[in-house]
Amino acid sequence: MPHWTNYHQHCYYCDGTDAPEVYVEEALKQNVASFGFSSHAPVPFDVFWCIKPHHYDGYFDRISKIKQDNAHQLPIFVGLEVDYIPNIISPTDQQFKRLDYRIGSVHLVDVGRSNEHIFWEIDGPSKEYVRGLAEFFDNNIERAVGSYFAATRQMLEHHTPEVLGHMDKVKMNNKGQFFQETDNWYQQQVLQTLETAKAAKVIIEVNTRSVYKKKCDVPYPSPWVLEHIHQMNIPICLNSDAHHPSEITKQFAETALLLQQIGFKHLYIQTKNGWEPRPFSAQGIEL
Ligand SMILES: [Zn+2]
Ligand SMILES: [Zn+2]
Repeated sequence: MPHWTNYHQHCYYCDGTDAPEVYVEEALKQNVASFGFSSHAPVPFDVFWCIKPHHYDGYFDRISKIKQDNAHQLPIFVGLEVDYIPNIISPTDQQFKRLDYRIGSVHLVDVGRSNEHIFWEIDGPSKEYVRGLAEFFDNNIERAVGSYFAATRQMLEHHTPEVLGHMDKVKMNNKGQFFQETDNWYQQQVLQTLETAKAAKVIIEVNTRSVYKKKCDVPYPSPWVLEHIHQMNIPICLNSDAHHPSEITKQFAETALLLQQIGFKHLYIQTKNGWEPRPFSAQGIEL
């Protein structure tokens, strides 16, 4: 019987809603057979959606214990979604080495004032996106989006995580206002980032949150990007970026069908021997 996996979720240690145990219970109900926690890694300044630095040890110990307690029924992996901000935080930082895996994501784009901790936040409220675009980039969207992808490439080259998180999240607040995904410069940024991802041997996550939160009508990355990923033979996994237990496998069947139609034959899952490809269908993954 096919099952699902999900390695991207946020519990109440960061900006998720519930205790991690509640997610485990709900994952079993949703036919999940391999599971990972990935709270937002602590950053050395105040961000409401990250684990507080003094809670990081507690998170690690709690999830490690849940992993042990559930070993008989559900393989659980201890991870984090780690931001990449040059000279401040990266997935290869020493403090994250004890984890089972790291998802590397860019939410905050360095605008050259990092000692003041001022960034272009691409994942926050859309008025912040619009304000930052004007204030930091003089409304030059090509330069702004270029900085986002440049940071992503720098992370992939020099601080490689196992999984690249929502690689084109910079489209979330765009809504067709500032650029089109058919713009030549945009496509060049994406394709260059895929080349870097391929060389880095990273797994690109297909993240369904954009769809079920109704931010976009397609997942991260967009279908045309997924077609290139398929042609380039870059490994993928399917994640929901759940912030609530009800979201653990949300939009998975529809997205798995889309991936099948594009031509993908395998999704990567975590096992005790590391990340491995498995066949899948719209019903789930053959573990
Ligand atoms: Zn994220
Ligand atoms: Zn996330």
